[in-house]
Amino acid sequence: MKAINQKEVDTFKQNLFSLKKRSVDHFWNLHGKKLLVNHKDYSIISTFIEEMEFYFYSLLQFGYVNSSNISKVVRDFQGISYVEPLKNSNERIFALTTWPVISIHPDLGKYRNLSSKSFQQLIISHELGHIMNRSWKNESIHFTNELYQNNRVKSILKNMGLNSYDYLKEGFELLDEVIAQEIAEEVTYFKMNKKRPKREYRTDKAIFEYQPYLTNFNLYGEFQEVAIAFAKTLSFLNITTKDSDEVILQKLVKASFQNNFISLIKQEFINEGCRFDYFIMMLAIMGKMKSSTYQFVGLNQKKGSISIHPMIQTYYEIGKLNQEIQKTYTYVKR
Ligand SMILES: [Zn+2]
Repeated sequence: MKAINQKEVDTFKQNLFSLKKRSVDHFWNLHGKKLLVNHKDYSIISTFIEEMEFYFYSLLQFGYVNSSNISKVVRDFQGISYVEPLKNSNERIFALTTWPVISIHPDLGKYRNLSSKSFQQLIISHELGHIMNRSWKNESIHFTNELYQNNRVKSILKNMGLNSYDYLKEGFELLDEVIAQEIAEEVTYFKMNKKRPKREYRTDKAIFEYQPYLTNFNLYGEFQEVAIAFAKTLSFLNITTKDSDEVILQKLVKASFQNNFISLIKQEFINEGCRFDYFIMMLAIMGKMKSSTYQFVGLNQKKGSISIHPMIQTYYEIGKLNQEIQKTYTYVKR
């Protein structure tokens, strides 16, 4: 860690201390009158603070956070009001961020090959990822509003049977999940001092109807390849033929730390004819996937089929086309 960041690191530490104090105060204001408090409920606050500190140092270590964006990240974290144990926890929901409050399931057990402690860290890191993604997510809402006023966009969505503003919005939410998850996986394995597992095929009845997908995520695995296919259509990531899918995903994550991430996506596609159309189609299918998985775990009340099986093939085909055109396009531009 370079000394140049020391002032910001100190601010982060002070903020972390205040966050702990606010969270403890909030907890005791709620539970103060009760004699018996579940110890796990209370201790999730200290666990969160410890893992948050490790998360921040890991990001500096990985280079995602550096002198160009450290003040922004420190400010993002400063906005968290308090942390609390997740109330009435549904066993399928591990955590929730309802800005500016983060709620974490106080009693997370083992998960896949992760110990309960590591799984806790993964979940906390994932939520912190959402906090950092907030600024570009907000920009993506403006961009989505702009897109949805465009008649061409509306007719594309209509033709796909995905005529809803929400699908475009949720397309960006899928990217938000994958970016938060990729960083969380990196941080978790870094702490365990273990190499991340190789990607493997998994099947999922829920929305893929047993069609296998490739992933090494512990959570949100069904979105990983989808986000990689999207990343491959972005010329500003400067992907080369030598880049593995893992590297491509890291390039996407790195780009999300730039404060012009959404403008770069906009510049990539707007006024680009069929590339723009393909972009809209991909974004809407990503949105449908996000929406379907949330419907599956009971997090949204939408009706209708949750199967995305027929669309996923189309998604990858359009992705390839867009990637091909992008290559020619960059070549011609040079
Ligand atoms: Zn999430």
